Amino acid sequence: MKKESEKTSLLQRWKNKGPKNSLSNPIEKVPLGIKIPLSHGQQRLWFLQQMYPKNTFYNYSETYDFVGKLNEDILIESLKRVYKDHDILRTTYHIENDVIFQNVDPNSELKIDIYDLSALSAEDKKNRYEAISEADSTKHFDLTKPPLIRVTLIKKNTTEYTLQITLHHIITDQWSMRIFREHLADYYKALSLKNTDFTKKIVLQYTDYAYWQSKTEIDKDSLDYWKNKLSGDIPILNLPTDYNRPLRSTFKGAASFTQTYSKELSNNLLSLAKELNTTPYVLTLSVYYVFLYRYCGQTDILIGSPITNRNQKALENILGFFIDTIIVRTNVDSSMSFTDLVSKVRENTLEAFANKDIPFEVLVKELKVDRSLAINPFFQVMFLYFPELKLPDFSSDINVTHKLVDTKVSKFDLTIYISEENGHLSSTFEYSTDLFQEKTIERFQGSFKSLLEGIVSNPNENILKLPILTKTEKQFFDSEERPISNHFSEFKGIHNVIENISTLYPNNTAVTYKEDSITYKALNDKANILANQLLNNTQTSNEIIALCIDRSVDMIVGLLAILKSGCAYLPIDPEYPEQRINFILNDAKVNSVITQQRFAHLFKDHNIRQFHIEKVDESERTVQLRSPDIKDTDLAYVIYTSGSTGKPKGVPISHKNIMNSTAGRLDFYDKNPTAFLLLSSISFDSSKAGIFWTLCTGGNLVITEKHVEQDIEQIAHIIEQHKISHTLMLPSLYQVILENIEINKLKSLTTVMVAGEACSKQLCNTHFKISPNVSLYNEYGPTEASVWCIAHKIEKEDLEREHIPIGKPVANAKIYLLDNNKQKVPFGVLGEIYVGGQGLSKGYLNRSDLTSLAFLENPFNTNEKLYKTGDLGKYRNDGTIEFGGRIDQQIKIRGFRVELNEIEKVIKTYNTTIKNAIVLIDDDVKYLSNDIPLNDLFDVLKKINDDDLNAIFSYIQSLNNDEKEYLLNQIEV
Ligand code: AMP
Ligand code: MG
Repeated sequence: MKKESEKTSLLQRWKNKGPKNSLSNPIEKVPLGIKIPLSHGQQRLWFLQQMYPKNTFYNYSETYDFVGKLNEDILIESLKRVYKDHDILRTTYHIENDVIFQNVDPNSELKIDIYDLSALSAEDKKNRYEAISEADSTKHFDLTKPPLIRVTLIKKNTTEYTLQITLHHIITDQWSMRIFREHLADYYKALSLKNTDFTKKIVLQYTDYAYWQSKTEIDKDSLDYWKNKLSGDIPILNLPTDYNRPLRSTFKGAASFTQTYSKELSNNLLSLAKELNTTPYVLTLSVYYVFLYRYCGQTDILIGSPITNRNQKALENILGFFIDTIIVRTNVDSSMSFTDLVSKVRENTLEAFANKDIPFEVLVKELKVDRSLAINPFFQVMFLYFPELKLPDFSSDINVTHKLVDTKVSKFDLTIYISEENGHLSSTFEYSTDLFQEKTIERFQGSFKSLLEGIVSNPNENILKLPILTKTEKQFFDSEERPISNHFSEFKGIHNVIENISTLYPNNTAVTYKEDSITYKALNDKANILANQLLNNTQTSNEIIALCIDRSVDMIVGLLAILKSGCAYLPIDPEYPEQRINFILNDAKVNSVITQQRFAHLFKDHNIRQFHIEKVDESERTVQLRSPDIKDTDLAYVIYTSGSTGKPKGVPISHKNIMNSTAGRLDFYDKNPTAFLLLSSISFDSSKAGIFWTLCTGGNLVITEKHVEQDIEQIAHIIEQHKISHTLMLPSLYQVILENIEINKLKSLTTVMVAGEACSKQLCNTHFKISPNVSLYNEYGPTEASVWCIAHKIEKEDLEREHIPIGKPVANAKIYLLDNNKQKVPFGVLGEIYVGGQGLSKGYLNRSDLTSLAFLENPFNTNEKLYKTGDLGKYRNDGTIEFGGRIDQQIKIRGFRVELNEIEKVIKTYNTTIKNAIVLIDDDVKYLSNDIPLNDLFDVLKKINDDDLNAIFSYIQSLNNDEKEYLLNQIEV
C-alpha cells in the first residue's frame, strides 16, 4: 500500500495538470486559410480506417425513443440548427501530397431520412424498424464524403417516434453526444415557444482544438512515465476463446444482453467503493481484473480505458473526438485479497490519469509496437464506466429514453461497459465474434455476477477464491454424476461374466488368432483345467501371477485361467528387455508365471513357479472348477506403466474396476462387437476394452500378429476375413490405415475407437471422407482409471471447431477440471483433469510414495480419491471436454507413456553419445547443444517415425548396461 502522502502527491499532480497547461497555452481560434491537421486521436482513427477501408468498426450509433406529443417539424428544425452550429458535423478528411487535413463545409444542409411505419401491423412494424435501424447503424462512412452523420426519424404511431443518429467516431464521442442532445433539447424547447431567434453560443470549434494540439508539445515527464510503465514484454491477454484468432481481425462483433444488478447488489457495491475510499470506476475495474485473471491465469494484465482529454474549460462545449485511451497495467498476484487488488488498481489508475496527456498514437509510435493486423497494440480488452446519464427535457409531455445501438463490431477482443442507471449498476460485454460465441459471453456475464456477489459478501477474500462459477455451471457440475446401471452387478468377478456367456453361447467363436480359434465352451473348459492346476499349486488366492505368452489363443486361455483361480494377471510381453522383466517380477513380488516353454529362460533366475501353457492337457476330464470365493475388490490384473522416477510402476485394477469399465461400454455404445480386432498388446490397458467387452458379450476376439501395424494389407485382410465390426487403435495408426487401405475391405466395420493420444481434426476429416459410414469414437483415459473415463462420438459438426473433443464422463467416472487450488474451473478455462469413480485403481502397487502424489483426497467428497492425470482439459459451453495437452513433459511414443524430463536427465549424463543420436532423428536439429532444452527434445520426439526410432534404439544398444537400463525403462521397447 502506498503511503497517504504519496497518494496525495499523485492526486495533486493530476489535478494540477489541466489548469497549468491551459493557463500557459490557451486555445484560440485557428487563423484563417490554414490547412487544419487532424488531432492525434483522429489520426489514429484515420489510419485504422485506411488499413480497413470498408470496415464499419468506428461507427457510433444511438437512438432516442420519444413517447408523447412530439412535434416532428420542430424536431427536424432543431436537428438542422445543431448541425449548423457545430462545424465538426460538416467536416471531412482528406490527404493531399502526403498531408492529411480536415475540411469544413460551411454550406452543407442536414438531410434527414424519415419513415412512417404507423400503418403497419405490430409485427411488420417491428421487423421494418429493426431492418431500418440495422441498415443505418452498419452502413459504411467514407471519410472524404460529407456528412459523417446520418439522422433517421422513424414514426411508429402518432405518439411514438425513434430518432436514430449514426456518426463516424472521428467526429464524436460520448461527451459530444451529451452536448448534442442538450443542444437539441434547448432548440426544441425554444422553437416550441416560437422563440425562433434562439441560438446557442459556440465560440471554439474542433478545428481550433486540433490546430492547437498540433502546436502543443508533448509532455516529456508523461512520455517517460509511459515508456517506463510499458517497458519489458507486453503480454497478449489469452482469454479462452472459442475460435482461433484470425490473422487479420475483421472487427466483427456483437453486444451481449445487458445484465442489470439488483438495487441491493448495486448499493452494496457503491458503498463498498466508498468504504475502500475509491470510485465505482476503480472498484468495478478491479472486478474486471479478477475476472480476467481467473479466466487467463496471466498476472501481468493491461486494460485499455477511454478517457476524455477535454482538460480545459473552453473545450467543454465542443463536439468532436476527444477520446484518448489510458492503459492500466497491473500485476495481479495470487496472494492478493480483493481489497489489496483495489488499492493497486487505484494507484495504477491515478498514475495513468496523471499522465493522460500523451496521445495513444504517440505512444504506439514512440514505443515502436508492432502494428499487427491481428491484434490491438498494448491491450486486447477495454473497460468503460458510464455514470448515471441525465437526459435533457424536451417537453413536459414527452418522455425520452436513450439507447446505444449494437453496430455489430468490436474493436477489441472484449469490452465491458459498466453503467449506472436509476441506482442500478449494469454490465454489457461487447465482443469479437471472430473469437467468441454468444454462449460464452453469456457465461462471462454469469461469472461476473458471481464475482460481484462474492466480493460484496467478503471483500477480503483472496482473489483466487472468489466465486466465479455461474449458476448454470454449478448446476451442471451437480448433475454430472449420473450413475449408470451396472450390467454385471450379479457377478463378483469379470471371469464370472465370461463363464455366463460361455453357457449362453457355448458354440460361438470366442477367440481367433490367424487360423486358430476357440469356442466359448472350449475356452472355458481349457481355462478351468489350467485354473485347477494353479489352484493346486499356489498357496494364496488373489496373488499376482505373471502371464508371458506370445499373441495367440492361448494367451487368452492363460489370462482367463488366472482370473478363475482367484488371482490377478500381470501381462509381460516376451519382447520386453530382460532388465525390465526382472524389475517387474521383483516389484510385483511374483511367485508364479504362465508362459511357454521357449520363454522358460526368462524366469530361471527367479524363484518362480512356471506353468507352461502347451502342457495343459485338454483331454482332462475334470473341467469342473473348484472356484474360489472372490470379492469384487480383489485384483483382476496389473499393468506396468512408465513412471516419473524412471522406474515403471504397477497399476492394480480390481474386478469392480474393470467390470464397471466394461459395463459402461454397454451403455455408451449402440452395438456390442460381433468381432473385435485386437491390435494392442495385452500389456497396455487399452487392450482391456476389446478383450473384456467382446468376451463379456459373446463376440469373437480377433487377435492380430505382433507388429501387424507395419503391414496395412494384412490388417485389411483380417478385417475382411473375420468380418470385424469393432476395433480400437491409436489415432496415428488409424490415419495410416485410412490412407493406405482398400476401403471396400472395411465393409463389415461399424465402430472404430481411437484412444491413447490426441485425435486430430485431420484424422476425422480423412475418416469422414473415406469411411463415413463407420462410427468414430474418441476415448480418453489413463491406465489408473481403467481404460476409459471420458468419451465422445465424433460427428461431422465437430469438424467446425479447432479441436476434436474427448467428450463427457462415461462408466460412472467422476471428472473434475481443477485449478492449482483444487477449485473447479469455469467453462472454457484449462484445468487439470482429475478422475474419480468406480474405475479408479487403489494406487500404485507397493509404491505408497507415488500413490500419495497422484491419488489425492477428493476435495468435494472426502471419502473418495481422485487421480491427478497431469492432463489438461477444458469444458465447452455444452459441458463437453476438450483435451488441452499435458502439464508435464510426458509424451506418447507408439502409445507408450514416456517421461521426457527423465530422458533428458539421462541424455545430459551421456550427452556426447546421445546428442548424435538426436541429430540422427532429424537433420534439422543440429543446433542441439550439450544442454538440450526440453522443448526442443519434445519437438523432436514428437516427430519420430518408426525407422528413426529403430535407429535410436540400435544406437542405444551400444550403450553400456547401466545407461541402457535407464533409457529402456523409459521407452519400453
Ligand atoms: P495410458 O495410461 O497409457 O492409457 O495413457 C494415458 C494418457 O494418454 C492420458 O493421460 C493422456 O495423456 C493420453 N491420452 C489417452 N487418451 C487420449 C485421448 N483420447 N486424447 C488425448 N490424449 C489421450
Ligand atoms: Mg488408456
